[in-house]
Amino acid sequence: DSLANQIAAGEVVQRPASAVKELLENSVDAEATFVKLIVKDAGKVLIQVIDDGKGMTETDARMSLERHATSKLRTSEDLFSIRTMGFRGEALASMAAVAQLEIKTKQEGQELGSVIIVEASEVKKQEPIACEKGTSISVKNLFYNVPARRNFLKSNGVEMKHIVEEFQRVALANPEIGFSLHQNDMETYNLPAGKLSQRIVHLFGKNYQQQLVACEESIDHIKIKGYVGKPDFAKKTRGEQFFFVNNRFIKSSYLNHAVTNAFQGLISENSFPFYVLFISIDPKHIDINVHPTKTEIKFDDERTAYAVVRAAVKQALATHNI
Ligand code: ADP
Ligand code: MG
Repeated sequence: DSLANQIAAGEVVQRPASAVKELLENSVDAEATFVKLIVKDAGKVLIQVIDDGKGMTETDARMSLERHATSKLRTSEDLFSIRTMGFRGEALASMAAVAQLEIKTKQEGQELGSVIIVEASEVKKQEPIACEKGTSISVKNLFYNVPARRNFLKSNGVEMKHIVEEFQRVALANPEIGFSLHQNDMETYNLPAGKLSQRIVHLFGKNYQQQLVACEESIDHIKIKGYVGKPDFAKKTRGEQFFFVNNRFIKSSYLNHAVTNAFQGLISENSFPFYVLFISIDPKHIDINVHPTKTEIKFDDERTAYAVVRAAVKQALATHNI
């Protein structure tokens, strides 16, 4: 059973960045107003997420470690319609199977919180503790008990790049929540709660301020909102290009093409415009792959999706006389 557990866990938690994504999304789901992410050695030694969200009772905290024990029970169809990111109750159980996990949590109004320490799915400690309202979850020595996985991890540089990517995606999708990132005791991001444009500037740099062009468009059942960078601001390397569908980050070369097409004649080939675009769509019009680590989706009406993205960007550029 412990092997089965480890295998299942490897599906959800493939590398430090996947644990980071799951923990950050849990804090968002818990209605946190500020979320602090601490990583040591690119998450290989420590990943800790501290939030000021609604916390858990001792029973909830213990339950949260059981596979499929989600407090957000949903059907897969409404995955893209729901407010919360989590739905399968696998993330914490998976991390607990392949790391040393420590949960500290307290709900508003409780005098004492709880601490639970788990190693390889075994509860080592559970007791009351004085702590702040909210939740702190530490994932220590990820894959310490799965050497094959541990050895498979890439260099700190590569793993950290993946972590920052996940951090950026969650931060962009939730500008009304404050976030900070601490790498080996150095604060590398501090993002105050604010508007999307401010979030972009705090994440990517002051020079983005003058480069953002607002987009907004809707056709039929598809709405789009966000920013593109001005054509002169396009980079020689791909990277800062973000699509979110119903607030979930997705990759879509098809929609990316729609943006590039809208920039036709304005940017040279082999250059990549900046964009952060949010698509809202009735979830019955999308087919989602419910695998937790997949970021692809299918639209039942791809042409309309393409058209609305292209139109939004074209229109925005035209309005700014670009
Ligand atoms: P899911 O998010 O799919 O429900 P997880 O394994 O990520 O599954 O989390 C299990 C449960 O633990 C959640 O449903 C939630 O009740 C609780 N939980 C996890 N993280 C937090 C947090 N930061 N604050 C409050 N509750 C949390
Ligand atoms: Mg979750």
